[in-house]
Amino acid sequence: MSLREKWNKVRSGAVDFLFPPRCLCCGKLLTPSDPLALCPLCLSSYALAARLPCRHCGRETADCVCCSELLVGAGVYRVAKAAAYLPDETNAPAQAVLFALKRENSRDAKAFVARELAHAVRRMPEKIDGFTVTFVPRGQKGIRAYGYDQMEDVSRLLAGALGLPWEKTAVRSGQAKEQKGLDRAARIENAKKTVLPAPGLNAAGKRYLVVDDVLTTGASLAAVADLLRFAGAAEVRAAVFAARS
Ligand SMILES: [Zn+2]
Ligand SMILES: [Zn+2]
Repeated sequence: MSLREKWNKVRSGAVDFLFPPRCLCCGKLLTPSDPLALCPLCLSSYALAARLPCRHCGRETADCVCCSELLVGAGVYRVAKAAAYLPDETNAPAQAVLFALKRENSRDAKAFVARELAHAVRRMPEKIDGFTVTFVPRGQKGIRAYGYDQMEDVSRLLAGALGLPWEKTAVRSGQAKEQKGLDRAARIENAKKTVLPAPGLNAAGKRYLVVDDVLTTGASLAAVADLLRFAGAAEVRAAVFAARS
């Protein structure tokens, strides 16, 4: 073990001692045998929500790969989903994970989301061999406010878990508004105008798996897919942590 690895181990041990891991949803202290990020009770209600049927295909959310017309228009025919996103109802554990992921730079939330995405991708009917993992970039405003791009970190973890290469393919221009709070038409317009190719992008002939945390209209995801196909990508698939069912 290198000195750096040893130091990282000591440091993360110290962090666990000072801030013992707690359930991101109910705050209960986790024991080493508990699953990552959520206590067993919250994890079981999370798992129950993933079994809610998709309104379009009737399959459980975790087995549904349906795409909206917007995504199909962008050449995406498969979206793997880990959990249902129910803003008006209750999937409190998924929402707590998303909050910690987006606002608290939580290592546990990132690891949990990456693991759930890996399960969702492995459940897809077609194999993912030969794909490169990439992600929907966070808006500049979000990066300024919170100091990081959560899906950049999660997509790296996911690529590692799936044994696939990873690439940053898109960036957001400074004029991007937060998608949250815009209506559907405004989201599509905003995403189209502000998702730009990353410097040095070479997508010709490649297959990409684009990942994001939440899928609502799919405008940002569609904008990244459009950009990749315009740059010559052979195929684009997607995986999201939480999808509005
Ligand atoms: Zn809990
Ligand atoms: Zn479906």
